Amino acid sequence: MSSAADIVTETPLGGPTLPQERRLVTSIPGPRSQELLDRKADAVAAGVGHTAPVHAVAAGGGVIVDADGNSLIDLGSGIAVTTIGNAHPKVVAAVQAQVAQFTHTCFMIAPYDSYVSVAEALNRITPGDHAKKSALFNSGAEAVENAVKIARKYTGKQAVVAFDHGYHGRTNLTMALTAKAMPYKSGFGPFASEIYRAPLSYPYRDGLTGAEAAKKAISLIEKQVGADNLAAVIIEPIQGEGGFIVPADGYLPALVDWCRANDVVFIADEIQTGFARTGEMFASEVFGIVPDLITTAKGIAGGLPLAAVTGRAEMMDASHAGGLGGTYGGNPVACAAALAAIDVFENDGMLERAREIETILKGRLQQLQAADPRVGDVRGHGAMIAAEFVDPATGEPDAALTAAVAKASIAQGVIVLTCGTYGNVIRFLPPLSITDDLLHEGLDVVAAALAAS
Ligand SMILES: *Cc1c(COP(=O)(O)O)cnc(C)c1O
Repeated sequence: MSSAADIVTETPLGGPTLPQERRLVTSIPGPRSQELLDRKADAVAAGVGHTAPVHAVAAGGGVIVDADGNSLIDLGSGIAVTTIGNAHPKVVAAVQAQVAQFTHTCFMIAPYDSYVSVAEALNRITPGDHAKKSALFNSGAEAVENAVKIARKYTGKQAVVAFDHGYHGRTNLTMALTAKAMPYKSGFGPFASEIYRAPLSYPYRDGLTGAEAAKKAISLIEKQVGADNLAAVIIEPIQGEGGFIVPADGYLPALVDWCRANDVVFIADEIQTGFARTGEMFASEVFGIVPDLITTAKGIAGGLPLAAVTGRAEMMDASHAGGLGGTYGGNPVACAAALAAIDVFENDGMLERAREIETILKGRLQQLQAADPRVGDVRGHGAMIAAEFVDPATGEPDAALTAAVAKASIAQGVIVLTCGTYGNVIRFLPPLSITDDLLHEGLDVVAAALAAS
């Protein structure tokens, strides 16, 4: 297996050879970053926020370099996108070759090889050995929208069940599927109809076994929706924005079994969990489930925008010709990047690397938890690990502490992201190309930020 350092530097193809170090030469933001932030405030819609006040100019391995020469440790991967590392040399080479060949024909007008090859690869590497087909799109939300279209067309039914704490995107249908009002939904309604919400399994807070939580969800679905009306159940196997909530054992398999017995399409939204992130190629494998449809995006193409729905051939084929697609969906440059990225996921030790990172992250965070009762829970799989912060006296979520720790970490050159319905979770999503040393240093900074908060 190649080490993280090899991924970054030992390649004949060029690509990022940035020094793998945390380096602060100004305060964050430095003057050049501040200049960009001022221009952003003037030119970019206020609704488009940012986590780190930096003006990025280069990124690779485990760092993001800003315009002032600061080098920040990246523990977010642009929200689980640059899983194989930023500007991975194989992705750069594939993109350069494709962009010089042709940039667009529209797959619905003149099809090309790379789209079909990505579909073949997804059909092969997603869980289950049944016949599968795929369709490609531009964004995660668009993939989710299309999975719902496909499930409705296949079943002839309309209702869709999503879950507490779920996140599925920012378009109208996916806002309806998303649980959290602020910042995703507030003021943006009315939302799509025929969407219902069921309780999740959240072991740290509900104290239920997987079987008990599934029984509760299924009972609600049967009574409030009815299987005869239900086209699909959509769930993130491990929730992303909702707080990296890992359902109790047995919860997901019970939902899958119920769906199968009731002609309901089970959709796994693996947009954040997919592509080696959890130490398996897909998180469904962590729980031993085989979804009917699976949505992917984020990590799929090494940073280029691409998304997909992959699933049972008879479901994917239910739509009439012309019913699915889009001008840019499966753009050839994005497809070339995806083929390079999938090659890296399959052949360059990415699953093993995600598991190594899990050992480091969980070890360090559990140490913190043992020493500090404000760390209520540490959970996750692979390079998708979170710490939930609480008031030790009451167990209530502590969003203020979480925000303070994240802010102080970023000011010290470590980019961390928060999440959770209650805003009290720090999620660790490092690129798999980060070195162990850099990961430890990032965690040192977070630990110091916690101690000082
Ligand atoms: C990010 C995300 C989406 C939306 O993807 P976009 O590319 O931002 O539209 C949907 N579902 C999950 C689980 C996500 O993490």
